[in-house]
Amino acid sequence: MEYAEIVPRQKSYFAGNTTKTLAHRLETLRLLEGLLRENEGLFLDALEADLGKSADEAFMTEIGIVYEEIQFMKRHLKQWMKAKKVKTAMTHLGSKGWTILEPYGAVLVIAPWNYPFQLALTPLIGAIASGNTVVLKPSELAPKTADALFQVLSQFREEIIAVVLGDAFLTTQLVRQPFDYCFFTGSSRVGKLVMQEAAKQLMPVTLELGGKSPLIVTKDADLKLAAKRVAFGKWINAGQTCIAPDYAFAQEDVYQEFKDELAQAIRELYGEKPLENEKYGRIVNRAHFDRLIGYAADAQKDEETLKIAPFLLEKPDLDSAVMQEEIFGPILPLYPYRNLEEVLDFIKMRPKPLALYLFTKNRDLERKVLFETSSGSVCINDTLMQISTPYLPFGGVGASGMGSYHGYQSFRTFSHQKSVLRQPNWLDFSFRYPQSKWRGKILRLLFK
Ligand code: NAD
Repeated sequence: MEYAEIVPRQKSYFAGNTTKTLAHRLETLRLLEGLLRENEGLFLDALEADLGKSADEAFMTEIGIVYEEIQFMKRHLKQWMKAKKVKTAMTHLGSKGWTILEPYGAVLVIAPWNYPFQLALTPLIGAIASGNTVVLKPSELAPKTADALFQVLSQFREEIIAVVLGDAFLTTQLVRQPFDYCFFTGSSRVGKLVMQEAAKQLMPVTLELGGKSPLIVTKDADLKLAAKRVAFGKWINAGQTCIAPDYAFAQEDVYQEFKDELAQAIRELYGEKPLENEKYGRIVNRAHFDRLIGYAADAQKDEETLKIAPFLLEKPDLDSAVMQEEIFGPILPLYPYRNLEEVLDFIKMRPKPLALYLFTKNRDLERKVLFETSSGSVCINDTLMQISTPYLPFGGVGASGMGSYHGYQSFRTFSHQKSVLRQPNWLDFSFRYPQSKWRGKILRLLFK
């Protein structure tokens, strides 16, 4: 089906009300889960081909998370779909009020390349669980995964789930179609373009964007464990993770020790020769490889395999390019700091990040950082783990995005909250009508 035909077809299918029922939502989720499990091998191969992801890493960061999300939706959907009663105001004596979470209709999901399976399917699961139809546009930069998604999801009728393959041009054309909702994951630059297009038809959007997520290590942190957990979060997928720590500040008394522990943790995770380690991923393409080498010419690299070894970049100039752009690769700028105030000022004066990481045992300090800074999420004494629980919403703020999803929050995001009021016929206050001589007095009593 041509992309321009899909939206009217999906809208007319949606108008038939089938996708709104609990039975249909559960059945679609069951079918989806079955198809994904049946084709797990195909996806593992695609992720290996696109990004050099090892099977274990791909299962942990992409496939397992998606299974978990489907299970979570299936377990809770019935409860979430129930109408919610609200209280009645004094002015509404005898009336009943409630809210209904209703699907928007036809939803467009645009996905990036770095977790091309999970970041395409987790929003899709939320949209389906909420009773919508979906058009999915995977990233052209992870072509094998995009093809596998196309092939597997073509088992659904296109009126319910359609996958459209293409590049930036096609994405722009898609955003111009009369969708009821657009869910975009990608860069802030493209997020702005998508929002501009969506604004032309007042299409609501969720933007899951990127940015520079800071990491703070205080002197009372458990340095060895902190280093291991930072190494895990920074170098998984070769640093191409939207919530990876982008740069680090360590308190000056422990700076050297933390740096040494980090170097040791990297060796423990990926060995002396990470470029030869099959558990260590590669950079997605030559353009990104060259961009990253531009930040760190001294990093060990392999132009054939497009791998760049984990690299600690000590104290680069705060005005240098590496500290202006999101790094999105295996390079970690590292700075010592004396006063936490300086670090917090630095963070507060920059665009709001997607994540902030804090390693400390000091609860007062933890409270201070939480109070003073704004970021999509915060993870204390670990990295990335805040994203892998369906109980926490995931999303950005300011430059790192708007809106959030995962678990119940996905259900909220892809549902419109409709307010309903039912008035009684047995009661009709005369004072609200213009001829009532008491109107002014009673209203002034009611709205004090
Ligand atoms: P991208 O913005 O280049 O591409 C995302 C999608 O937009 C792709 O499907 C692509 O085809 C499309 N696109 C690209 N250029 C376009 C244009 N000019 N007009 C319309 N559509 C266009 O992002 P990417 O390189 O795939 O992903 C990396 C970025 O995504 C990083 O900034 C990263 O931080 C961010 N990201 C965010 C999250 C999150 O959950 N917040 C997750 C992963 C990645």
